Amino acid sequence: MSVLLEVSGMTAAYGGVRALDGLDLHVDEGEFVVLLGPNGAGKTTTMKTVSGLLTPLSGRIRFAGRDLVDVPGWRRAGLGLGHVPEGRQIFPDHTVLENLALGAFPIRRRRAEAARRREEMLEIFPRLAERGSQLAGTLSGGEAQMLAIARALMADPRLLMLDEPSLGLAPLKVAELFDHLKRLHDERGLTVLLVEQQAGTALRLADRGYVLERGRVVVEGTGAELRGDPRVQAAYLGRL
Ligand code: ATP
Repeated sequence: MSVLLEVSGMTAAYGGVRALDGLDLHVDEGEFVVLLGPNGAGKTTTMKTVSGLLTPLSGRIRFAGRDLVDVPGWRRAGLGLGHVPEGRQIFPDHTVLENLALGAFPIRRRRAEAARRREEMLEIFPRLAERGSQLAGTLSGGEAQMLAIARALMADPRLLMLDEPSLGLAPLKVAELFDHLKRLHDERGLTVLLVEQQAGTALRLADRGYVLERGRVVVEGTGAELRGDPRVQAAYLGRL
């Protein structure tokens, strides 16, 4: 498999606070990779540096064969990087369909494709079709998360990064959400990088995973290896 995303020697800080400290990770084309780790380990910061919301102090990001560090954040979506940030960040005063249309911005010149993708999203997420003209701010938590994912998928990303999509959702909705992600990966070959606190569920879905602590990778392995790793079991006791 070819490497799609490669992060090497990444350091990042907020003022004087070091958030990433020589982070190395990669995601191969077609893989489902999960990032685990305690609060403050640097998971969100990793995604922010990859999508360009934060400029790293040093290190390299290669995506689809090109160096990203000097590519401005707003350009990266057009290169195939999809990011569903923590807290969803959908536009509450726009309808569901308008939110989807905004997601198509990176492929705005390919109108027929944008229309086709919209139909595809409404097929994958039928609840969004039912709620098409409803303001996004009135959606339930689960629906809003589906919309955030569908909006990111509108741009036809080569990599979809999701930051704690299960946060604040009822257990049944979490199961539904993960089922969607699994199907997008299995049936459509979507490459996924997922930050998730629900380690057990995430590791069952993932091909591979990393555990971060204090801004660096401390354990790496397949989903099954990580579930069996005593360090992971100790950190996530009872949640595997
Ligand atoms: P969580 O699971 O709590 O979201 P995380 O693994 O995603 O944690 P990050 O949010 O990447 O961790 O944070 C890494 C470090 O950077 C932490 O020490 C955190 O306190 C610090 N940090 C994150 N965002 C900011 C910010 N905006 N200003 C200052 N420090 C920050």
